[in-house]
Amino acid sequence: MTSYYEATKNPRAPCKMLEGSETADVCIIGAGYTGLSSALHLAERGYKVIVLEAETVAFGASGRNGGHVGIGQRSDQVELEEQFGHEIATLLWDMGLEAVDTVKSLITTHNIDCDLKHGDMHFAHKRKLCGDMKKEIEFLADRYNFYDFEYIPQERLHEAVGSNGFFGAIWDKASCHLHPLNYALGLADAAINAGAIIYEHSRVSSYSGSPVVVSTASGQVTASELILACNGYIEKLEPKINGYIMPINNFVLATEPLSEDMAHCIIPKDTSMADSRFVINYWKLSGDNRLIFGGGENYRQKFPTDIKGFVGKYMRQIYPQLTDTKIDYGWGGTLAITMNRLPHFGRIQENIWYLHGYSGHGVPTATFAGKLIAEAISGKLERFDIMSNLSTRRFPGGTLLRWPGMVSAMLYYSLRDRF
Ligand SMILES: Cc1cc2nc3c(=O)[nH]c(=O)nc-3n(C[C@H](O)[C@H](O)[C@H](O)COP(=O)(O)OP(=O)(O)OC[C@H]3O[C@@H](n4cnc5c(N)ncnc54)[C@H](O)[C@@H]3O)c2cc1C
Repeated sequence: MTSYYEATKNPRAPCKMLEGSETADVCIIGAGYTGLSSALHLAERGYKVIVLEAETVAFGASGRNGGHVGIGQRSDQVELEEQFGHEIATLLWDMGLEAVDTVKSLITTHNIDCDLKHGDMHFAHKRKLCGDMKKEIEFLADRYNFYDFEYIPQERLHEAVGSNGFFGAIWDKASCHLHPLNYALGLADAAINAGAIIYEHSRVSSYSGSPVVVSTASGQVTASELILACNGYIEKLEPKINGYIMPINNFVLATEPLSEDMAHCIIPKDTSMADSRFVINYWKLSGDNRLIFGGGENYRQKFPTDIKGFVGKYMRQIYPQLTDTKIDYGWGGTLAITMNRLPHFGRIQENIWYLHGYSGHGVPTATFAGKLIAEAISGKLERFDIMSNLSTRRFPGGTLLRWPGMVSAMLYYSLRDRF
């Protein structure tokens, strides 16, 4: 199940496996955006950082996702104001903007070659949602002085998409999109250049004590601070936080390269695209004009055997003109969602930190999490505390019983999408 990203990744030397005993100021478990950005920002502040990755850099969601880098938080701003009040909602909005800016500036500063392109379209798949879109644009302009959203009415939709399946759209000019694996590999190189050490094929089996002793099958790291950056891949490593996140699988395909005419017809402005369905469809063009299309989820341990067919049916509903287009790649990945769709940050003990649960918004938010944790470990806790104080409930049923409840809720919402 090679992904398009894996097949087109920038070359880089593999990292060694941890063998023997090492010491560090900060040990990080997991080399996705959370772990890599934390490593980079901490190493830049002078900390000795060791990252332990069970597989290879960006083996998890960071090397498999849609590559959409969206502004704001995963929940919309109106909901955040209702839930937390204007002051906290404003801080969250500002951090959401800063997260996208952080991604862009890391790409520029470290010269990361990752097909960065600008703009996003968000489509209403039901007529009644168009009113909400217009209200959201007005709300953001009035309350946040934000003017980078433009409403595209149905009669102008041909300017935005080559599909008849939608009723209106928001053209978001502040968001961007990229090749997610090459972005992660660029972060890894930047972290290594800043002095961090990354070990691959070094799965952490346990940790204990303070300073924390972190163990793998072939070595151990003793560190003053530990960061858990495993997100949807954490499995049973830390039962204390597991009930707050739910791992779900999401799937993506890449078509064969499209002709210039077809590429321009289906995505005229070369933006990323997403629709308003609960189980969201999202898509964009790659650097070589393939359609990268994500859609469909499952909540089991296993991926579908025919991912190309599974995702292809969602793609053809939106683009029937691609019925005969060959699908070259199909792959899946696991992400972690939370009950309120906001990230779940906190500490298990004074020196063991966790950052996860980005709920499908992790390209900017996990990158930003690395910046926040570097601030926090350096003693500036304010912004980390704002995030960690956002109350996230446990999934009903805890670790064992969260699946059946989740599956029924997801099926209910996906049926509601259709009717
Ligand atoms: C198919 C898909 C599409 C998505 N699309 C988007 C999108 O378009 N935009 C967006 O913003 N977000 C998207 N997301 C979400 C986004 O990819 C994630 O939120 C983000 O990558 C999380 O980064 P992370 O570093 O926290 O976790 P991950 O990238 O999952 O990294 C966790 C790492 O921890 C390692 N690990 C786990 N356990 C151990 C252990 N015991 N020892 C050592 N290492 C361990 C894993 O091997 C893994 O490499 C998508 C996710 C998926 C799966």
